[in-house]
Amino acid sequence: MNKGKKLYEGKAKIIYETKEKGLAIQHFKDDATAFNNKKKATVEGKGVLNNRISEHILNNLNQVGIKNHLVKRLNMREQLIKLVEIIPIEVIVRNIATGSLTKRLGVTDGTVLEKPLIEFCYKKDELDDPLIAKEHIFAFNWATKEEIKIIEEMTFRINDFMSGMFRGIGIKLVDFKLEFGRIWNNDQKEVILADEISPDTCRLWDIKSEKKLDKDRFRKDLGNIIQAYQEVARRLGIVPETTNVSEVNFKKPTSINIKKR
Ligand code: UDP
Repeated sequence: MNKGKKLYEGKAKIIYETKEKGLAIQHFKDDATAFNNKKKATVEGKGVLNNRISEHILNNLNQVGIKNHLVKRLNMREQLIKLVEIIPIEVIVRNIATGSLTKRLGVTDGTVLEKPLIEFCYKKDELDDPLIAKEHIFAFNWATKEEIKIIEEMTFRINDFMSGMFRGIGIKLVDFKLEFGRIWNNDQKEVILADEISPDTCRLWDIKSEKKLDKDRFRKDLGNIIQAYQEVARRLGIVPETTNVSEVNFKKPTSINIKKR
């Protein structure tokens, strides 16, 4: 599959066009950012791991009927995806209170929520992705009522599936972020899951030790970022393919290599 021109470059991924109508290539970079780009670094091997982990989760979601943009993984860093019209909303799902929720509302960190909480943020880097109410989505036509209903239903199903999947490998799914997009299907617009699901976009705690196995290791300078992502991949049973020295070694934890930028 030949890569065409760059369509979009985000903080952790690049989207390239392809010759095939409606398809694009999603490339996972090693760049890590936090606190709205104020903290930046390169974490060697992160893109390879996120590519594999996201492929695994999206394939599993597809098997339980959650339509998503993944067509197939192409190589260590790239996936063939359906090109969607992205809905400019980040859907946050929380099972346990932590992060911005605890800061915003003074809720004790680690409080288990009685039922999953869905929050919406407006996807706008210049504004720090502000928290919004559902009414803002309709007021500014970011999505229709029908689309939000579908998104909420899909989100609860994704949370149920992923919570079970992670529980089975000794990991608590604390919270995560989803993005959705529209595709044309027989002259009708359809909402599907897009973007990625990985330790960059989820909070994952080891059930016994509560050790963080996600991007909080970078946000909070906890170290061993790649080892934590590798641990998630290992527990998910993702078998490594042949790697070369410049890529991540799945078998032996490599020494962490963060280049401050
Ligand atoms: N999240 C994300 N991208 C964002 C914002 C949040 O992937 O731009 C994920 C984050 O990794 C966490 C969940 O969404 O799993 C909730 O994040 P929170 O609102 O607590 O944000 P933070 O504490 O990172 O500011």
